[in-house]
Amino acid sequence: MGKNILNDLSLKMGRRNFLKLASLGAGVGATSMFASTNTLREATNDEIKNPFPGSKKVKTICSICSAGCGIVAEVHNGVWVRQDVAQDHPISEGSHCCKGIDQIDLVKSKQRVKFPLKKVAGKWQRISWEKAISEISEKMLKLREENGPDVAMFLGSAKFNLQQAFYFRKFAAMWGTNNIDHVARI
Ligand code: SF4
Repeated sequence: MGKNILNDLSLKMGRRNFLKLASLGAGVGATSMFASTNTLREATNDEIKNPFPGSKKVKTICSICSAGCGIVAEVHNGVWVRQDVAQDHPISEGSHCCKGIDQIDLVKSKQRVKFPLKKVAGKWQRISWEKAISEISEKMLKLREENGPDVAMFLGSAKFNLQQAFYFRKFAAMWGTNNIDHVARI
C-alpha cells in the first residue's frame, strides 16, 4: 500500500481508529508468522498455573542500599526468574522501595559490569582486578604527591553497612584528608 493511500485512509477513518487497525494488523501478522514457523503455541493450563515447575524460593535481601529489605527470589534451573516481597522480613515488613522492586532486572541486566574494564583507544577492554587496583592506586598516589591529600574527595555509598563505612572513614584519614561525606548529600 502506497504512502498516499495510507494517508488518505487515516484521514477518512480518523487517526485513532486507523492506529487501532494498524496495530491489530501488525499483531495478526506477527502471530501468523510465529504460528507458521511453530515457534508460538498456547500455554497449557498447567503452565499458566505454574510456569516454572520445580523452582525454588530463596529468601534474600535487596543489595541496592544498606536497609537490606527482604526479597523472595524464585530460582528455576539456576536462573532467577521472579521476585516477590518478603512479607515476614523483620526490617522491611513486606514492603520495597521503587528501586528494590526491580532488583531482579538489575542482577540480570546485560549492561551489568561484572569485571573491571579499561577504555583503550576508545574501546572497553577487560582487565584483571590486580591490574585495575594497581593502575588506580598508582594514579591516586601520583595525584596526592603532586597536589596534596586534599586533591581527593571520598564519597561513601548507600550500599555501605556500618562496618564498611567505618573502614572507608579510616581510609580517608590514612590518605590524609577530611574531604569525606555521604554520596546522598549531593
Ligand atoms: S533500595 Fe529500597 S528495597 Fe532495596 S534495600 Fe534499599 S530501601 Fe530496601
